[in-house]
Amino acid sequence: MSNVFRTDKMVVRYDDYKKTAAFLSRCVLCNKSALQDFKYWRITKNDFPYDRIAKVHDMIIPLRHTNEAGLTADETAELLMIKQQYLQDYEYIIEAAETRRSIPEHFHLHLIQSKTEYT
Ligand SMILES: [Zn+2]
Repeated sequence: MSNVFRTDKMVVRYDDYKKTAAFLSRCVLCNKSALQDFKYWRITKNDFPYDRIAKVHDMIIPLRHTNEAGLTADETAELLMIKQQYLQDYEYIIEAAETRRSIPEHFHLHLIQSKTEYT
């Protein structure tokens, strides 16, 4: 159960959610509301944040349901532009490795503002 990013309580909450019809019957990322939309990308809040480390935990996802390999050149170019121009309020952009992805079929990057006060 132990997780470097989520507290045990959040791990249980997320594991329970992953067994619900809401999660199993449709792509939850395709149904997320926007904090900000671009032509091909959406910034959205993570409802199951990395609460051990994150003060703010959002995600950036393609508007289209696709994995990373399916991204077009236009989508990839816009992501690069967004990373360079719009993500300055975040401290870290985290991508889960293949084995740690709970929603591998819809590409997403984690956008983190950390809790750490660096004292
Ligand atoms: Zn999707």
